[in-house]
Amino acid sequence: MKPPPFAYHAPATVEQALELLATLDEARVLAGGQSLIPMLNFRLARPAHLVDINRLFELARVEARDGGVAIGATVRQADAERHPLVRERCPLLPLALRQVAHAAIRNRGTVCGSIAHADPAAELGACLLALDGHVVARSAAGLRSIPAAELFQGPFETTLRPDELLVEAWFPDHGPDVALVEETRRHGDYALAGVARAGRRYALFGVAPTPVLADPAEPVRGLSPSHDLEASAEFKLDLVRILMERASPR
Ligand code: FAD
Repeated sequence: MKPPPFAYHAPATVEQALELLATLDEARVLAGGQSLIPMLNFRLARPAHLVDINRLFELARVEARDGGVAIGATVRQADAERHPLVRERCPLLPLALRQVAHAAIRNRGTVCGSIAHADPAAELGACLLALDGHVVARSAAGLRSIPAAELFQGPFETTLRPDELLVEAWFPDHGPDVALVEETRRHGDYALAGVARAGRRYALFGVAPTPVLADPAEPVRGLSPSHDLEASAEFKLDLVRILMERASPR
């Protein structure tokens, strides 16, 4: 399938990108394109403008900052997975990134793009929530920090405004007491259900409209996962119980 027509913009600076997002109607940011391009091809999205951020090299950085690691908007998932700062300070992320899709997709897909896309079954949003991290959104009007708990609103929906660019995701430093477990039908598929754990904080993915925190004493309390072609709601609740046990410290 071919995408519907759109105007393509390739700004050279963040300021130009923000100006485009502030002035164009129905514009979408294009990062790695690993979710957006299939959505265009399947006509699930019909933006009038694409603002390609791949030339914004200043957003390609991974930096230690404020007791954590800041990952810029154009950092590829594969680069984050291998980055020494990420490996040393944020061991949950490489664990999670290894389970995101396939290597070819991680070579293009970005950490921030996955978070902005807000697929409820995505690993990285759950990691951000389990770690109590945040994202930084920038618009022509300024900067704001959005904690993970206030970012995800529903399936593929965040509190980012259309004129905002997610410029970085920030994950606090943490020790090795982490886990990422999930169940998929095939290697590389989105998870039917999964758990990201950092110390005593557990975040579930794939079983609610957004990633959600869970109490290990009552892991399925308040959950009503949807029944779909892959699994029934009861099966997903059973999976949550099993995965929470597997994610718990031995
Ligand atoms: P894009 O596709 O470019 O953009 C996705 C959306 O986010 C668009 O709406 C775009 O406008 C918005 N966006 C992107 N960056 C920004 C930004 N900086 N500011 C504001 N908005 C932004 N993901 C998983 O988590 N787990 C999986 O198991 C998994 N399996 C996959 C399997 C396949 C076959 C495929 C094709 C994809 C899979 N993915 C999976 C998705 C993959 O991780 C994508 O790379 C990711 O979801 C989107 O990142 P991207 O950089 O490609 O973003």
